[in-house]
Amino acid sequence: MFQAPKGTYDVLPGSAFLAVRDGLLEPARLAGYGYVEAPVFEDTELFARGVGASTDVVSKEMYSFTDRGGRSLTLRPEGTAGVVRAVLEHNLHKGQLPVKVRYAGPMFRAERPQAGRYRQFQQSGVEAIGLTDPALDAEVVALAWEAFQRLGLRQVRLLMTSLGDPACRPAYREELTAYLAGLDLDEATQERARINPLRVLDDKRPELQALLTSAPLMVDRLCADCKAHHEAVAAGLEALGVPFERAPRLVRGLDYYMRTTFEFLHDGLGAQSAVGGGGRYDGLSESVGGPPLPGIGWALGIERTLLALEAEGVTVPADSGVQVFVVPLGVAAKAWAVGFVGQLRARGIASDLAYGDRGLKGAMKAADRSRARWAVVVGDRDLDGSVAQLKDLTNGEQTAVPLTDLLEHLS
Ligand code: AMP
Repeated sequence: MFQAPKGTYDVLPGSAFLAVRDGLLEPARLAGYGYVEAPVFEDTELFARGVGASTDVVSKEMYSFTDRGGRSLTLRPEGTAGVVRAVLEHNLHKGQLPVKVRYAGPMFRAERPQAGRYRQFQQSGVEAIGLTDPALDAEVVALAWEAFQRLGLRQVRLLMTSLGDPACRPAYREELTAYLAGLDLDEATQERARINPLRVLDDKRPELQALLTSAPLMVDRLCADCKAHHEAVAAGLEALGVPFERAPRLVRGLDYYMRTTFEFLHDGLGAQSAVGGGGRYDGLSESVGGPPLPGIGWALGIERTLLALEAEGVTVPADSGVQVFVVPLGVAAKAWAVGFVGQLRARGIASDLAYGDRGLKGAMKAADRSRARWAVVVGDRDLDGSVAQLKDLTNGEQTAVPLTDLLEHLS
């Protein structure tokens, strides 16, 4: 027997997967973010240049392959690079700005699987491209916050900081590098400091954090423009009623972020506590060969959002249930039932019937399992009398309803 590959999983009927995937994007839809879908694989170079060749995502985790035409392609590890590529390719940035889009779909990273961490996982995301307006940053962050609230999550925390820009980050990076050089760091950490010193700040080990208490912080070294932007985003979030914590040591795993950077954490998830994250990526377009084109966006993890809902005991209805279950007893009744569920479905009423010509007992069991609200039981004799037995499956009450009234009744 085959099994799903390591680090993957199957979504099965009864899961709230779809409701979460789409629910996370509902506030964005209401805010004018159009739906886009980019391919699941792109040129490997797009990610190497867009996400950053030195990141773990690109250097260690990409699923890359050579296709039959000798091209190097990669299963997308994240959504932003492909969306920016699509915007540029179709000249959307030459129309109305910002270009606001939303997307959802699978991402692929060859990580070590564990609870909440998969090799194929799903994200819902948005991007707002073309403007550097702090009010837009606040909108984008608020859309994710609202999405979690709407699903019923109450234990999500928003962390936010600014990572500066090309005007102020290089000098800060040098200062931090010099500071880290003065510490007694193990070799692996020294190596990380060489690749990206900012990431050392985000190290969770307490002994390292103890060494870093007096490390210089980016937020204290922002240039005037970055500082003004950062405070305007904070004011915007306050005006929108979105609570956030300032997190001066927050760094994310993708190189393209600058200025506004944020993460959503859920405390009920253990080690993999990030349910989403994002930020501003004003240099991304240029790094993939496009014109200067600022942007900001986020991606929320669907599996971890499902785990967070479970941790908080929130149920989101799955979409696979039916409201009405029809139980035909006899040949003529079955023919009628097939037509009747067709009429119900045409009216938008989810309905099913007992297939397999089982007896009453088996068919009623099927009705119970369907978790429908109503069962319609019809024998050939009922048909002759032009009635059906309508049973309320919540309390077992049964009434005879004339067939001519049944559709209206259930509607
Ligand atoms: P990132 O694209 O790394 O900024 O991640 C955004 C969100 O996607 C994270 O906060 C997680 O919720 C989710 N995520 C990232 N990597 C994985 C993974 N390997 N498995 C499951 N969810 C993930």
